Amino acid sequence: MFEKAHYYIEAEVESNIMETSRVNTLTLKLDRFINIKPGQFLMVWRPGDGEIPITPSLTQGNTICLTIEKVGFTSNRLANLKVGEKVFLRGPYGNGFNLEHPGKYLLVGGGTGAASLTPAYLKLVEKGVYTLFLVGGRNIENLVYVNKLREIKANIQIATDDGSEGFHGTLPELFKKTVSEDFFENVLTIGPEKMMFKIAEECLKRGMSCQVSLVRIVKCGIGFCGSCVLDPVGLRICVEGPVFNASEILGTDFGFYMRDEMGRRIEVTL
Ligand SMILES: Cc1cc2nc3c(=O)[nH]c(=O)nc-3n(C[C@H](O)[C@H](O)[C@H](O)COP(=O)(O)OP(=O)(O)OC[C@H]3O[C@@H](n4cnc5c(N)ncnc54)[C@H](O)[C@@H]3O)c2cc1C
Repeated sequence: MFEKAHYYIEAEVESNIMETSRVNTLTLKLDRFINIKPGQFLMVWRPGDGEIPITPSLTQGNTICLTIEKVGFTSNRLANLKVGEKVFLRGPYGNGFNLEHPGKYLLVGGGTGAASLTPAYLKLVEKGVYTLFLVGGRNIENLVYVNKLREIKANIQIATDDGSEGFHGTLPELFKKTVSEDFFENVLTIGPEKMMFKIAEECLKRGMSCQVSLVRIVKCGIGFCGSCVLDPVGLRICVEGPVFNASEILGTDFGFYMRDEMGRRIEVTL
């Protein structure tokens, strides 16, 4: 059966802001309202340019933001769209974050992960939950979405590898320092997989619940093609994920292997 959620939604670019030399944020006006839970993703398509999964960085009525890193052909084309141009969306897909667990929340966002975690941050604040947001990048020029987070007066701490802004060190190092000083019942993370793996392991050691949003090659987005499957358990990032409890995926491919565009099992390098 062809569900309504699978129809394409038409969206027009209202603005395009450069975050860093590699990352842009598009604000899109949709032709209808769609309810997107924090952590769910959309398949974003421009005819002729390909279709890729993106997790919205803001959702407000019929307006959403997409923060896109230019890594290849389609992401470059999308990130360079001009005001008034159109894209087509399908979704939302997958399972978002569970924000119902009691206790304090610590969010850890590396690169565009800081943008993708922002809807979860806003939801938690709206619910009156104490939330601290750790954001990181290689240096001050590579911090993504920090201007937006400052604009909304988010409770953030920044880490840069070279110390050009905030804590001098990596995000996992700032994370370790933070959790050695204070206990957080819940951790949510999006970023490079090796970083998330370190965070997940530390959470397990300390008895903190951790939800991880995995980024893999997602082609169909609806569970048919198998390109995003997690070995050996068969979990699909696009259906059972992209958000998983770390305890569910530690001991699988997570942190070590993924599949490339041809379906070959390759090492996770970042
Ligand atoms: C659920 C989900 C949510 C995502 N949300 C965002 C987001 O909010 N912002 C954002 O910038 N990106 C996000 N991504 C990643 C984004 O979808 C990819 O960067 C994009 O598909 C690359 O397409 P491309 O055609 O530009 O690059 P390609 O030409 O397809 O690839 C360029 C290079 O990047 C590698 N690559 C491509 N996709 C991935 C991937 N998923 N994992 C690891 N390596 C990859 C390729 O192997 C190749 O080396 C998300 C991915 C998933 C699965």
